[in-house]
Amino acid sequence: MAGVQVIPVMIPQLGEEEAQAAAEAIRSGWVAQGPRVARFETEFAAVVGAGHGVAVSSCTTGLHLALVLLDIKPGDEVIVPSLSFIATANAVRYVGATPVFADVELATGNVTVETIDAVRTDRTRAVIAVHQGGVPFDTAALRKATDGWGIGLVEDAACAAGSTVYGAPAGTGAKVAAWSFHPRKLITTGEGGMVTVDDPAFATRLKRLREHGMNVSAADRHASKQPVLEAYLETAYNYRMTDIQAAVGLVQLGRLPGLVAQRRELAARYQELLADIDGLVPVRDPAYGQTNYQSFWVLLDGFRVSRDEVLTELAARGVSARRGIMAAHLEPAYEGVTTAPLPVTERITRESLILPLHHQLTEENQNHIVGVLRELASR
Ligand SMILES: *Cc1c(COP(=O)(O)O)cnc(C)c1O
Repeated sequence: MAGVQVIPVMIPQLGEEEAQAAAEAIRSGWVAQGPRVARFETEFAAVVGAGHGVAVSSCTTGLHLALVLLDIKPGDEVIVPSLSFIATANAVRYVGATPVFADVELATGNVTVETIDAVRTDRTRAVIAVHQGGVPFDTAALRKATDGWGIGLVEDAACAAGSTVYGAPAGTGAKVAAWSFHPRKLITTGEGGMVTVDDPAFATRLKRLREHGMNVSAADRHASKQPVLEAYLETAYNYRMTDIQAAVGLVQLGRLPGLVAQRRELAARYQELLADIDGLVPVRDPAYGQTNYQSFWVLLDGFRVSRDEVLTELAARGVSARRGIMAAHLEPAYEGVTTAPLPVTERITRESLILPLHHQLTEENQNHIVGVLRELASR
C-alpha cells in the first residue's frame, strides 16, 4: 500500500545488546548448548518462580517432553482447549495419545474445572491448560481439581512470561510448565522454549530427554578433564537450545519487567478508548491475576460490522490486526475428530480480533486504530 505505513500486530524488542551477546557467544567458540544455556535456565526459572528450568528448542517440543515426563501413552486421553495455537493439541498426538477438546470461558478464553469435568472420562490421564494470550487460568482451582482426580496438569505457559496468578509469577507452583521464546511472545530467542518444574528428579529426566537420553550432557563431557563415557538410558530427542539463543534470551529476560509494564499501560489506554464503543469487549485481567497482554483481543458482541469486515477495513487503513485465537477442532488436521459442542470456543475464534500491541506502538497509532473501529460502529 503506497504511502500507508502499516502498524504491525507485534514487534519483538531486540537491540544492540542482543546482537552483542550473540556475537560474544559465537566468538567464544561454544555455540551449542553450554554455559549460557545453563545460566538462562537458572535465571528464567527464578523469574517465573520455578525450581528448575530446562531449555528446549521450542514450547512445542517442551510440551512433547512434558507429556513424555508424565508417561502419557497411546490409549490415554489428554484434555486440551481447542482454542489455542495448534501446538497444544499436536503435542498430545506426538506421544500417541488422544486429544480431547474442552470448551473455555468467555471472559478469559481459558478452560475451567467445569469445562474439563464435562469431557473427562476414565481414560483421561492429563490436562494441558493454557494461559491464553497471557491471561492466566485459575491455577488454584485447576491444580486442586486435577490432583483430586489423580491426573496430571501441564501448564502451556507459551505466552505467559510476566503474567501473575494469585500474586505470584505465572509458573509458580506448576508441576510442569512449558514456555515459548518465539518472536510473537514477549521475549524471544528467535525460536526456543523452556520447561520449568520444581521436582529436581523431573529436571534431571527432562535434561536427558532433550539430549538423546544421555546420562551426562555433551557440555559437561567436553568440560571434563577426564574422559567421560556417556550412556544412553532411553530413546529420546534432540530438542536442545543453542548458546547463541540463550545469550539473546539472557538479555531479553532483563527487558521483561519493562515490557510487561509498558504493555499493561498501552492495554489500559486501549480499554479506556474502547469503553464507549458499543459491541466491543476488550480482554481484561481476571479476578485472580494479571495478564501480560501478550495478545490484546477484542470480542465483538453485537458489533454492527462482521469480524472479517473489521479486519479488512483495518488492513485497508494500515492496521495489521489478526483474527482471534484459532480453534484446533476447526482445522483440517483435526477433521473427523468427534468433540463435545464447543460454543464458547467457536464464538471467540469467530468473533474476536487481536489489535496491535508492541513497544513501538504510539498513542497516535492507538487513536488511529480505535478511530477506525469507532467509524465502523457508527456505520
Ligand atoms: C506459541 C504457542 C505455542 C508454540 O510455541 P513455539 O515456541 O512456537 O513452539 C504453544 N502454545 C501456545 C498457547 C502458544 O501460543
